[in-house]
Amino acid sequence: MRIARRATEVSLSVTLALDARAKALMAQGRDVINMSVGEPDFPAPALVQDAACKLIRSGNVRYTPAAGTLALRGAIAKYLTESRGVAFTLPQVTVCHSTKHALSGAILATIQEGDEVLLFLPAWVSYVEIVKLAGGVPISVPSRPDLGPDFDAIRRAIGPKTRAMLLNSPSNPTGYTWSRKEVEELAALAVKHDLVLLSDEIYRRLIYEGEPDFSPASVSAEVRARTVILDGASKSYAMTGYRIGFVAGPPEIAAAVERVHSHLVGAPNSVSQAGYLAALETEPPEVEMMKREFDARRRFLIPELQRMGLETPMPRGAFYAFADVGPYLDARGSTGFCEDLLEQQNLALVPGSAFGVDTHVRLSYALGLDRIRHACERLAAFLAAHPRAPAAARR
Ligand code: GLU
Repeated sequence: MRIARRATEVSLSVTLALDARAKALMAQGRDVINMSVGEPDFPAPALVQDAACKLIRSGNVRYTPAAGTLALRGAIAKYLTESRGVAFTLPQVTVCHSTKHALSGAILATIQEGDEVLLFLPAWVSYVEIVKLAGGVPISVPSRPDLGPDFDAIRRAIGPKTRAMLLNSPSNPTGYTWSRKEVEELAALAVKHDLVLLSDEIYRRLIYEGEPDFSPASVSAEVRARTVILDGASKSYAMTGYRIGFVAGPPEIAAAVERVHSHLVGAPNSVSQAGYLAALETEPPEVEMMKREFDARRRFLIPELQRMGLETPMPRGAFYAFADVGPYLDARGSTGFCEDLLEQQNLALVPGSAFGVDTHVRLSYALGLDRIRHACERLAAFLAAHPRAPAAARR
């Protein structure tokens, strides 16, 4: 059968493919430590499970409106008003099957054939592919050595075809969290060049130190009018399998995503909507516990990586470490490094090439401290068995 070009050109999500491979090896009996996928290792909060089960048992699991139930849209608007410090109303919100789905809806609704979208490297694996699927052109912008935004590079990348910029703070894969000043500087560029600001805020509740998160929607009414927030339940409520998130922004964006999704998926899952609503109505006590646990892992893992000689900035948010393994790479780059590591030490990481930075690897610390300790031992043993290549050989 002939497969359409748009589907042959798109690659399988590397994060999901690696997770599947690690799980397949485990099913064969291999003791793999899986630090590939970014998925909280906690169950969803009890009140989420109760609400989901209650709806299933009521038998009333039906289509909802394409934009989601009024109750959930209202709860999301309230949550945004409280957390972003500016008023959001129900027509500004469309519920989606996940934050990834919210992102693809927002991109389909704003990006036309040939429009350029700036992605700040390293950028999460699906951004490039979703922009391309929509007919847009992803433009990669390098970051500073500390993985923060390089505004000179951003200014240089903006051209006559630039339509949007995609901000992800805290970042997947680095955990880098933009300061308020940096968000304001980016917002000023968006206003100056009349650009849409797509703001993926899925990790916003997982910030462990320093300034709290700051959304471009909070900068000013002028910036809010061009900002589309993408957020959801997966990371803060450990609800990855529920697949539930939302788009929020000017009402015309929410309505456009609703129209697109009404044909592509019909409506978001009603069981997951009930679970998400319960979490938004009553803060689950598990959330703070999960955050404390992630923070403890972060404080253990990053110094360990640094002790191994891997340059790894201490991230303020998310649950990823992005370590520079450049000195250990051969011609196969970070992919070869991760393949060998999995083969020789049963440790699954994601190559930086998936995020556009081939000198690094991503470690997800969404797994217990004991496993992280073992993972560090395996990584250290692997590095010891692979002497650093002299700089000249790497060029
Ligand atoms: N966002 C997570 C990750 O980067 C989950 C998998 C995915 O959707 O990419 O690992």
